[in-house]
Amino acid sequence: MKVSHIFRDESKLMPEYVPDSLPYREKQLKQLITIYRGFIEAPGSAFYRAIAYGPVGTGKTAVSKKFGSMLKRRAERRGLDVKYIHVNCYRDRTLFMVAKRIARGIYSKFPERGYSAQEYLEMAWGYLEDKEAYAFIVIDEFDYIARTNPDAIYMLTRLSDPLLQAEQRMSILFVVRDISFLYMLDQAFVSTLQHNIVEFKPYTSKQLAKILEQRVEEAFRPGVVNSEVINFIASLAGVDGEGNGDARYALELLWRAGKYAELDESDEVKPEHVRKATHDIHPGVRVEELENLTNHELLLLLSLAAVLRSTGAAFVKLSKVEEAYRSICESLGLKPRMHTQIWEYVQRLKRMGFISSRVNSLGRGRGRSTFLGLSGIPASMLEAKIRRILGGRLG
Ligand code: ADP
Ligand code: MG
Repeated sequence: MKVSHIFRDESKLMPEYVPDSLPYREKQLKQLITIYRGFIEAPGSAFYRAIAYGPVGTGKTAVSKKFGSMLKRRAERRGLDVKYIHVNCYRDRTLFMVAKRIARGIYSKFPERGYSAQEYLEMAWGYLEDKEAYAFIVIDEFDYIARTNPDAIYMLTRLSDPLLQAEQRMSILFVVRDISFLYMLDQAFVSTLQHNIVEFKPYTSKQLAKILEQRVEEAFRPGVVNSEVINFIASLAGVDGEGNGDARYALELLWRAGKYAELDESDEVKPEHVRKATHDIHPGVRVEELENLTNHELLLLLSLAAVLRSTGAAFVKLSKVEEAYRSICESLGLKPRMHTQIWEYVQRLKRMGFISSRVNSLGRGRGRSTFLGLSGIPASMLEAKIRRILGGRLG
């Protein structure tokens, strides 16, 4: 492979990468340390729980991962066995899948199937007891479950109720985009959480510039990205600029701009490369979230994109989309899902922010009809992304 004149190490720009230092998040990290101090010092002493919240790209996942590994390291230094498990509810979308992920994260040989959520959690607990171990669990993107099943938080936090006298084996951190689901819960329960809520605010342009600067050093060759480019990206993404204060968007712009510079065989990243990058990325839709969708969800989304593109309309009838979906399934030799299942997919894709819908009355006596549209991304671009993902999966 040709050596890049632009990048030193592209992987440092990927969303999974957690840099050593997280500027402007010292306060949140300290708050977590305070909340979980008892767990760090004597993990069995009580059941610790907290909620981290803030909009996308504000560092919630990065901070909680850093905190999780720090906690594990500190415990190991004291000779304690602490497991750190990070569950993402976009991937594990039901309480059952979360419970299974927790159990199998604690002990990978627990069976894949045959148990209920409660049983998986009890098995995990029993295993920790046997090994005299503890677990720190982060339940990331918990909104996804909380929005449809706000009571899930009870089950996860009351896990230890029958075992109150016993050593506490697990502590939990919930990570959410928005805490409004708390209003649906029992207020006595909410008040026990009140002091354990850690807020993540959107980043300003100035903060993003610093975050980008640090990443430029790790990921690019010296002299390739100058401060003009950094400040430009920061102003496009900063909450006081044109953006939402989303660091992930800023980093993706930086990476894409680097790619354009490479394509141009330029020896530096220029503002024009950044402008090109803005056309590729849409802050509302994240490719990695597309990757968490099932094949049929992707096929439905693909059908919607195709119909929107070919008709040029802003909204199209669900029945038209279903028709396109069935014919795509047929061409791939797949069995299409039934209407009720499709309806479920539509609801889920809506909750995830991929599509918008509205119901139109067709006039007197003619009933109502559901129309679907795409939010935040051009149909042609979405189509290309989905085809790439499905191509990888289905061959
Ligand atoms: P959230 O979970 O709130 O959506 P993430 O933690 O995934 O946000 O952050 C998005 C991206 O921005 C990740 O690549 C992360 O490493 C980076 N990032 C966020 N905050 C910081 C920070 N303070 N310093 C450096 N990188 C950051
Ligand atoms: Mg996150």
